[in-house]
Order: sequence, then structure tokens, then C-alpha cells
Amino acid sequence: MDTVHTLADLAHWAYTGTALAVLGHPIAHSLSPPMHNAALGRLATRDPRFAHWRYFRFDIPPDDLPRALKLFHAKKFHGLNLTVPHKVLALARVAVVDAAAQPVGAVNTLLHADAGWHGFNTDGHGLAAAVHEELRRDLAGATVLLLGAGGAARGAAVECLARGCAALWIANRTRSHLNTLLKDLTPLAGAAGIPLHGLTLEELAARGHAGLPAHALVINATSSGLRSHDAPPVDLTALPRPAAVFDMIYNPPLSPLLRAAGALGVPHANGLAMLVHQGAKSLEIWTGAPVPVGTMRAAAEAALAAR
Ligand code: NAP
Repeated sequence: MDTVHTLADLAHWAYTGTALAVLGHPIAHSLSPPMHNAALGRLATRDPRFAHWRYFRFDIPPDDLPRALKLFHAKKFHGLNLTVPHKVLALARVAVVDAAAQPVGAVNTLLHADAGWHGFNTDGHGLAAAVHEELRRDLAGATVLLLGAGGAARGAAVECLARGCAALWIANRTRSHLNTLLKDLTPLAGAAGIPLHGLTLEELAARGHAGLPAHALVINATSSGLRSHDAPPVDLTALPRPAAVFDMIYNPPLSPLLRAAGALGVPHANGLAMLVHQGAKSLEIWTGAPVPVGTMRAAAEAALAAR
């Protein structure tokens, strides 16, 4: 299952069971295949319908995505996960977009239907479930300080607003990206009556304690911290003490931001549980069955440790 397939393999695809796959570029390091195949193995022990379900990985460059989606549909793949850089690109290529995925503007889960792909976004569910599980906090009612304005931040922001956070602050390095996100979120925040604030990371640092919310749930959705020598996206000591810090990054397991939270004694968690829960939601969409989340988590941890 660790084989990295390409579009060329799809042309003469011979697997006769129910096929699922993750599409990305690059894709070799994705934890999704071991996580989903472990869950499918477990499901098969209690329901023989799942005995021949398998999850594959495909490296698909972005220019090939439109052709690939047609081919995967023609080959009757039952479901697909999409990861970087396909989540936004795929939105225009699906027949039906789930209502909850529309404001996010991206899909990470496709379900085969006769008329074409049905698109969903399970990242927001993954975030909410992970924050609840790891930090015993809910997005509903929380004052959230979200770092980043890329794809992951967009999904997080929509989920925070949809679940009724108390206020949403967004800080990003590049002002133009921040402004685009704020413009898209303003109708949602306005309709829900939720205060929405935006500032650059530089402005956030310069404000210090002045005019920033205390006891915020800080969520890092920037990619700053993926390399262990990265600086944290923000100096936590310069902000009012947060209630908790969640970093979507899970490799390294302790990002510079989480190390800083630990040093301050602030509850913190990395993004592994988010990965597991977004995957579990995808599997639930494909199978309609209760998903063994613990099995998925153990498989993801084992695959990560084996790297
Ligand atoms: P993306 O669309 O490329 O966005 C990247 C974001 O990071 C942008 O806001 C960018 O700011 C910011 N950024 C990049 N380098 C930075 C730096 N050195 N300092 C400050 N900000 C920086 O990526 P994405 O898909 O949103 O992913 C973001 C992170 O979330 C990644 O680390 C990814 O692995 C993680 N993630 C985790 C999960 C999970 O399940 N745990 C799911 C999705 C994503 P600019 O606008 O200034 O470029």
C-alpha cells in the first residue's frame, strides 16, 4: 500500500475491489494510506462488505488533476482524498459541492456518484474534534486567535464561525492574503453576529498586550514550524496569556510554537488528532459505518514513528 502510483498506472488499473485513494503532489509522505487501510482492516473484521476495500496513494501534478478526476471516476474509485495542492483546484471539477464546503472554497473528500463527484471538506470537523479531544475546549464560545490565511486557515475560520465562536482574530504575514480572507469571511461573520478582526503578524507582535484578547485559543495554521529551526509565527510571551495553543503541524510533534506554550505552562496540542479526525470523517462519508478512530490514530502514530 506504500507504493506511489501515477496517472499512467490508472490507465491499466486492475484492482477489482472497492478502491479509495489520496491524490497529492508530493504524496510519498502522506499518513493517510496506513491510517485508512488499518481502519478498513478493522472494519472488515466486523463486516465482510469491507473485506476488499483498499486505499491507495497517487502522485498527481496539478496540471493533470482535471484529467485524473475524470479517469478515477471512470475507473469507479469509490472515494478520493485531496491534499496539497489540489483542494481548491478540485472545487470546480465536482458535480455537487456539500453546503458546508462552499464557504471554505476547497474540498478534501470526494464521493463517487453516477453524475460525477460529490465534494466535501472534513478539515473543519477534524480541527473541532481535535481541539475538543486534546484540549477539552470547544470552538463554540471561544475567542480564537488564528494564525495564517492559507487553505488550512480558511477552513479553520469557517468552522470557528459556523460553530459560533465568541470572536475571531486572524493574523497573517502577508496583508493582501489576509484581506482576501477577511473579505470572504465578512458575510459569514456578519450573519452570525461574530466580531471579526484582522492584522498582520507584525502588527500582532507590535501590539503587545494592548487591545488583544486574553484567554484566546491560539490556532496555528501557518506552515511556520514545519522545520524545527523555524521561528514560531508569533512570540507568545508578547501576547496576553492564551487559554490554549493548537498547532496544525504534527511533524515535528513539538513545533517551536508548542515548545513556547509548554514553557509558559499553557495547554497545547499538535495537529495529529486533526489529521486523524478529518480522515475518520472522510471514511464515514465513504462507508456509512462507525469508524474505528483509535485504530486510525495508532496507525498514523506508528507510520510517523517509522519515518
Ligand atoms: P498554505 O495554503 O500554503 O498557507 C500557508 C500559510 O502559512 C500562509 O498563511 C502563509 O502566510 C503562512 N506562512 C508560511 N511561511 C510562513 C512564515 N515563515 N512565517 C509566517 N507565516 C508563514 O498552506 P495550508 O494548506 O494552509 O497549510 C498550513 C499548515 O497547516 C501546514 O503546516 C500544514 O501542514 C498544516 N495542516 C495540517 C492539517 C492537519 O490535519 N493537521 C491539515 C491542513 C493543513 P503568507 O500568506 O504570508 O504566505
